[in-house]
Amino acid sequence: MIPYGRQQIEQSDIDAVVATLKSDWLTSGPRVEEFEKQFAEFVGASHAVAVNSGTAALHLATMVAELGPGDRLLTSPITFLASANCAAYVGATPDFVDIDRASRNLCPRALEAAWQPDTKAVVAVDFAGQPCDIQGISEVARPRGAIVIEDACHGIGSAIRKDGKAVRSGGHDWADITTFSFHPVKTMTTGEGGMLVTNDEELAKKAYILRNHGMTREASEFTGLGSGGAQFQPGPWYYEMHELGFNYRITDLQCALGISQLSRLPQFIKRRQEIVAAYNEAFHNLEFLHPPALSSHVEPELISWHLYSVEIDFELLGITRAEFMTEMRENGIGTQVHYIPIYLQPYYRQNYGYSPGKCPEAEAYYGRALSLPLYAAMTDSDVQTVIDTVRSMCQRRSS
Ligand SMILES: *Cc1c(COP(=O)(O)O)cnc(C)c1O
Repeated sequence: MIPYGRQQIEQSDIDAVVATLKSDWLTSGPRVEEFEKQFAEFVGASHAVAVNSGTAALHLATMVAELGPGDRLLTSPITFLASANCAAYVGATPDFVDIDRASRNLCPRALEAAWQPDTKAVVAVDFAGQPCDIQGISEVARPRGAIVIEDACHGIGSAIRKDGKAVRSGGHDWADITTFSFHPVKTMTTGEGGMLVTNDEELAKKAYILRNHGMTREASEFTGLGSGGAQFQPGPWYYEMHELGFNYRITDLQCALGISQLSRLPQFIKRRQEIVAAYNEAFHNLEFLHPPALSSHVEPELISWHLYSVEIDFELLGITRAEFMTEMRENGIGTQVHYIPIYLQPYYRQNYGYSPGKCPEAEAYYGRALSLPLYAAMTDSDVQTVIDTVRSMCQRRSS
């Protein structure tokens, strides 16, 4: 079975985890700091805060941005639930802006048109790994006083060109905060895990503290509240809780895996680019299948592809998407649909009153979307199997 996505684990990954298991630190230890340092360096950010999921990174992003009730967060409907749920976690209102039909990313013009006085944040997603127009989005959001959060869970290592230089998601100042996920289907993995990166020291500091219950042991930060008598004076045991945080800590075992995976990330990205190029070449002349299109601001060699999501005219092809997926599965190939527009979810319709028709481009895309297998561990023969099967399923019916 060729799944639509999976991890690539080598002996060096296993050795790194086993060595950490035998060390003194299973959590909150040196591997965590090292992973943060290396990841920050890799993307080009000043601060990185490792957490136990991409969702936790997004939640901390909305917390440190001080979003709350009465504030609106705008994002794309074509993304994983967490990009919008992070607004609801802090009592803010998640709302949605239509996508650009070609890139499937949030459209800056639609963003401008959807802007409301209570809009305080934008979550800009790098869908499938293709960088969104973060400059255009930032130029709409910043003058209106909103914070820009880039959800780069799909785009680990993706870059755009700025002043002639390639800058990675997380490594430029068009976003205030950038978040990543290391779930096994993502481009590199820690099992579960995530990262929040920023160039803003204050935001980073808040995120570090909220990751661990809002607690601090730094004497310089103590308020002194509670020192009502000798027995309340700070000592070596002392800590203070200043805000309501969480246990979003990641383990050293996971970070050991992360460090090991990060060292092979350039290879993972290259292999995914090769597979995407082979798919594009094989599918460009099919009548009923449309490979992903690129925006004018991106360069193919700078994209770290997470998904290969094509659009198929199922109606013209004379087969439903469900039948197509079943037939692919019978040929040993897993496929998936990314994504159901979030506002169509029962929770969103019931709590926010959203209904079909809100984002027509997103719905049109959703009706035709299908993700084909894409992961670094795919062999050439796996790729050929997918190509042959898809081509024969699309051609058989065109005649
Ligand atoms: C995977 C993903 C997340 C959430 O990451 P987890 O690590 O699964 O919590 C958020 N946003 C996007 C776009 C994702 O693909």
